[in-house]
Amino acid sequence: QSARPAIVDAVPKDLFVGGSWQQATGGKTFDVLDPATGEVLCAVADASPEDGRRALDAAVAAQPAMAALSPRQRADILTRAFDLLHRRIDDLAALMTAEMGKPLAEARGEIVYAAEFLRHFAGEAVRIDGGYQVSPAGDARFLITKQPVGVALLITPWNFPMAMGTRKLGPAIAAGCASVIKPAPQTPLSMLALIDILREAGLPDGGVNLITCTDAGAVLEPMIRSGLARKLSFTGSTKVGRILLEQCAEKVLRTSMELGGNAPFLVFDDADLDEAVAGALQAKMRNMGEACTAANRIYVQSGVIDEFGRRLAARMAELTVGPGTGDGVQVGPLIDAAALTKVTELVQDAVDRGATVLTGGVQLGGAGYFYPPTVLSGVPRDARMSDEEIFGPVAPLTPFEDEDDAVVLANDTEFGLVSYVFTNDLRRALRMAERIESGMVGLNQGVVSNPAAPFGGVKQSGLGREGGAIGIDEFLETKYIGIAMP
Ligand code: ADP
Repeated sequence: QSARPAIVDAVPKDLFVGGSWQQATGGKTFDVLDPATGEVLCAVADASPEDGRRALDAAVAAQPAMAALSPRQRADILTRAFDLLHRRIDDLAALMTAEMGKPLAEARGEIVYAAEFLRHFAGEAVRIDGGYQVSPAGDARFLITKQPVGVALLITPWNFPMAMGTRKLGPAIAAGCASVIKPAPQTPLSMLALIDILREAGLPDGGVNLITCTDAGAVLEPMIRSGLARKLSFTGSTKVGRILLEQCAEKVLRTSMELGGNAPFLVFDDADLDEAVAGALQAKMRNMGEACTAANRIYVQSGVIDEFGRRLAARMAELTVGPGTGDGVQVGPLIDAAALTKVTELVQDAVDRGATVLTGGVQLGGAGYFYPPTVLSGVPRDARMSDEEIFGPVAPLTPFEDEDDAVVLANDTEFGLVSYVFTNDLRRALRMAERIESGMVGLNQGVVSNPAAPFGGVKQSGLGREGGAIGIDEFLETKYIGIAMP
């Protein structure tokens, strides 16, 4: 049904090491599937631990050259790559939809978003600043400068196959760090295309190296433990993040961790209900709900919950589900069979514990991993989805009474990535924004992601920030030079 686009054949399938495309040891490969059909799209290189080490050595060898590029040269590489992404957006969107499933319009949106990180960090590259300070006693001067942290390992997830790459590669290149990047095995093709574009944009050999593999643990652990890299930037599950933090502890690597979320979405009775429904639809359905920023728990003040539930269910029921290449399709398939099983189980569990299905809730069957937009009301605290990321098109509604009640519910989680608050009372909005434990807050808006804003979480949602003016700091060390002035 979803015809295989030409770019699937055109894109490189090998490892990118030291500036050239190379096969994995023994020519090993693994298959990439189309989630809309479950069929094989193509095969890509399956790196061994030795291949991983070669990629790391290539990055180490290239680190001096990366650090020696002038800020303007780094910015120019990023700007050329930005232009190339835009010029090839149709092919790149088709490639992303083929491997990941999201509707073509969303794939195009992601490529624009991904390119924006390159443009943003091209600007940051030439604005890395320092300082000059008189010591408090007046007897010395301090020069403060920033230097690249060194070789960076970058690990990305499948849900935003290109934007999670540029969000790390943009600041790494801007800061002058050589890197090894490893995309998720479900969606390596967008990253392969991106790396080929960076090569074309003039990146020095070894400045970025790419490995694809199925056994990430076996390949990455020795790379991390070698201590040759000085930085690990990871986006993925909290479970894997914890493992990586432990591995990084041995050689004290700098880490950035963008981990799981469990976003509360709060609607007060003074909110504009149409806006709140539109916001919930965005916060829930962007990327089929497969986003760490997805609204995972929707809490609505008791006076308006019935009306809100009716309107949201009506809008959800109208969404068109199908292959991402289909005309007018708004909801594509989930990433794989495991994801479909998990969403199905979470809904069943909530229903078993007393939730009511307002719309959806029944697997669609047929080929591909499709699940219908679903709204559940009366989801109790002990439902698994109160604690686990749903990562699917399921909106669970639960009532609350007042602000204090809302804060307790919102903060009753080990995660703290993002929260959403809908209210027309300014002071209430600010009180909630201050009291909720999350790295980001959407006030009367359902999407917070923006390359120019600091993205990241608190609690077990992670460490560090990506994007914004501070995004580049994750790849820079501060050096202080003291000068005696007797
Ligand atoms: P998800 O559950 O969304 O697939 P994961 O945290 O499992 O999230 O995966 C995110 C990224 O981390 C992927 O690129 C995956 O291959 C990689 N990964 C998974 N396990 C490990 C590991 N033990 N070491 C390094 N990377 C890993």
